[in-house]
Amino acid sequence: MVNSTYQYTQTLLGTTVSLILIEPNETVAQVVFDTITQLENRLTVNRPISEVMLINLAAGEHSVVVSRSVFSLIEQAQKVSLYPDSCFNFAIGPLVKLWKIGFKGDRVPTEEQIKQQLLLTDPKDIVLNPEDHSIFLTKRGMEIDLGAIAKGYIADVVRLILHQHNIDQAIINLGGNVLTLGQSPLNDDGYWHVGLRKPFSVTNELAGIIKVKNKSVVTSGIYERFFIQNDRLYHHIFDPLTGYPLDNEFESVTVISNSSLEGDIYSTFLYGLGLERGRDFLKKHQHLSAVFLLKNKTIVLINSENFSFLLLDKQYAMSFS
Ligand code: AMP
Ligand code: MG
Repeated sequence: MVNSTYQYTQTLLGTTVSLILIEPNETVAQVVFDTITQLENRLTVNRPISEVMLINLAAGEHSVVVSRSVFSLIEQAQKVSLYPDSCFNFAIGPLVKLWKIGFKGDRVPTEEQIKQQLLLTDPKDIVLNPEDHSIFLTKRGMEIDLGAIAKGYIADVVRLILHQHNIDQAIINLGGNVLTLGQSPLNDDGYWHVGLRKPFSVTNELAGIIKVKNKSVVTSGIYERFFIQNDRLYHHIFDPLTGYPLDNEFESVTVISNSSLEGDIYSTFLYGLGLERGRDFLKKHQHLSAVFLLKNKTIVLINSENFSFLLLDKQYAMSFS
């Protein structure tokens, strides 16, 4: 057992990124932060230029050849977007840009504006060509948004880098996307402790602790980015059918998985399915585990053999399935 760790922190990906190591290693931390910076520069849609923005800027005009890794990420995003009943939609960009949730100028748009943008969000209108790794958005104004999966992908790349440097015990925290490597030397039982945030707590209180070994823990929560107008809360995960934020039982959905990309995809995807369909999906996909935190103050654990959970806030009731 050890009783201290070394934490390296930088502001990247619009959040606080931290790396926790058991031995001090400034050099590796710098390699990690440089890599995250490079990947953010490729994937972001919050700046005028990136690899993804080049695709978006060419919408309705021509296809754009992208790197192998960006193509593969977009391929996976399209696959999940085309699942039957999927609320996950990587073509959601025009709505994200319209609502501006989490950014300056956020407000409820008009019905007409929403209707117009919905015409530009069909994932089938995005053509992928695996032969030359090119991508074509067939209508002017369309925009790919990889906000629901980019952090997961980046966390997996960071794990690879740490392994290449023979580091096999660490935590990568990309603001709500946590990836733990190996077993924790901090606790006798080898579990890493990952906090489950209490939604909307201004003091960052925890509802509970998720204990895992060598797993990714990714949360999609409506408290991450939101605004309130006329006593109604509007958050950042949209229903691709209505163009409004999804409305269901969930305050947050946490997925525990081996790959962080998978965790990020499915935290957003399950958020969209809602409680009953989400539970059914997970029963058919036992390699994924989840913690659903409901508006009615119930915490539901699903496929809970892959982790252990400690309830901290007794106002929540627990349920297992
Ligand atoms: P996450 O926190 O991983 O659930 O991702 C939320 C982010 O994904 C948002 O901030 C948007 O950039 C994007 N997004 C919003 N709605 C959707 C949706 N229905 N499908 C896919 N991505 C979305
Ligand atoms: Mg996600």
